[in-house]
Amino acid sequence: MKKFLVAVSLFSVVACSRENVAVLEKGVKNEKISVIEKYSNVKPNKWSEDISGVVKKLPTTEKVLALTLDACGSKNDSLDEDLIEFLGKNQIPVTLFINYRWIQKYPEKFEKLSKSPWIEIENHGYSHVPASLNGRSIYGIKGTSNSKELFDEVVINADYIENITGRRPKFYRSGTAYYDEYAVKQIYDMGFIPVGFNILGDAGATYSADQVKAALLKSKAGDIIIAHANHPEKQTGKGLKSVLPLLKAQGYRFVKLEDYLK
Ligand SMILES: [Zn+2]
Repeated sequence: MKKFLVAVSLFSVVACSRENVAVLEKGVKNEKISVIEKYSNVKPNKWSEDISGVVKKLPTTEKVLALTLDACGSKNDSLDEDLIEFLGKNQIPVTLFINYRWIQKYPEKFEKLSKSPWIEIENHGYSHVPASLNGRSIYGIKGTSNSKELFDEVVINADYIENITGRRPKFYRSGTAYYDEYAVKQIYDMGFIPVGFNILGDAGATYSADQVKAALLKSKAGDIIIAHANHPEKQTGKGLKSVLPLLKAQGYRFVKLEDYLK
């Protein structure tokens, strides 16, 4: 799969001749076809947030935590700008998993986020569906039906983000954070690392501020925390603003995923 990545990165940075572009495009196309074919007849058995290969923790014993916030692009979501500003002011790095639909709705906000040095932008998919190779559902949301749909779900938004920011996302979190075991393998083969979480910070932005606080106070070294950046009307921001300084006072340092996952 290295060839695929090399082709993609070369394609984006080198000023190619027309012939070279054609060769590279063909290479990318062939890699796409071979990944899709490789997973076209698999029979997944597992279906959860906890599949082997999904990264839920940073590989370190250092007293660090990774705060990850999703922006899902659902009908009525927006951006908790106070929270984002708070993180910047308090020098708390954060990884944002952003869905294609959200970027479409808020292109200016997205550009501002992508230029903020404390923020890492990662991929939360094209249509925010679970990563399945046979159309499994969870919470009433039907996942991708096959390897072609999963390819598009992951790669369309990765390409879109890269076109705007100049940086290709490294990590992918599916809509709902559900995966099957072959979807996980396919995501690696496409050159991305599937990411989950082990601290459920706001349960889909449904927690009260006190529940957010209690959830995060259970954090241990290397934990990946999930919460949401797209619901300023809910209590997530309030809870995070109260608990993050407490964790810092306990000696935790916040890091971006890319700082600890290569
Ligand atoms: Zn989401």
